[in-house]
Amino acid sequence: MSCALPADYHIHTFLCKHAEGMPADYVAAARARGVPEMCFADHAPAPDGYDPGVRMSIEQFPEYVEMISALRGGTAPHVLYGIEADYYEGCRAFLESWLPEQDFDLVLGSVHYINDWGFDHPDNLAVWDSVDVTETWRKYFDLLGALADTRLFDIVGHLDLPKKFGHRTEEGALTEIAAPVLDRVAAAGMAVELNTGGLRCPVGEIYPSLLVLELCRERNIPIVFGSDAHSADCVGHAFEQAVNLAAQAGYTESLRFRARKGAPVPLQSIGRTAT
Ligand code: ZN
Ligand code: FE
Ligand code: FE
Ligand code: ZN
Repeated sequence: MSCALPADYHIHTFLCKHAEGMPADYVAAARARGVPEMCFADHAPAPDGYDPGVRMSIEQFPEYVEMISALRGGTAPHVLYGIEADYYEGCRAFLESWLPEQDFDLVLGSVHYINDWGFDHPDNLAVWDSVDVTETWRKYFDLLGALADTRLFDIVGHLDLPKKFGHRTEEGALTEIAAPVLDRVAAAGMAVELNTGGLRCPVGEIYPSLLVLELCRERNIPIVFGSDAHSADCVGHAFEQAVNLAAQAGYTESLRFRARKGAPVPLQSIGRTAT
């Protein structure tokens, strides 16, 4: 029986101002945990001034490039170089010209804002009390559809993020809202991420839920795995559980990325029995 973990494709650095430790510590943590491959995917710079408190500046970007390339070429784990870029209205002006100029292995596309509301930030939690939850999910998925339509990104990050603090919509409504958007994700040739960061949030659940993941599987949308680590101890967090979830949804493979191209690799049969 193999005990290989999948690659961890969602790892932050201190340049985003809300992650701790040195990137080398994350690499050491991956090595210790047996994570064979990892991709740094820090929050992308946004020179238009979008949400500047949680990302590197464009001036710091060369430091990011240097920092990650210094960690490459070692033995295990294999270190990849990526970015988590936000989709928001107006993001294209910069991303369309900037992303293709970089040598990224992968680009995560994430929605963290609905209009000017950073709905997943604890400081803005009270806003949830003043909105219709189902309507909010609908607006969020509208943005995800627009994200997919840009063809700028490779992987949808934390697909059902609005559940972060426990704000859920009923399954019928969620399916009706998500299904047509996932058609667009599939048409864009994008993958989705099984993000274990949700387990460390009030919702206590991997993004996306089994229901949403099954909708992805029905559309043959490929998957990758990400811890969304903002500290070294989170690298590869609960990946056994994430692989189980993938298997439960009917997945037998995940994607391995190089230079923004995904290639299928078989899912290892890990964590299938409780330990
Ligand atoms: Zn972050
Ligand atoms: Fe994110
Ligand atoms: Fe992230
Ligand atoms: Zn995140």
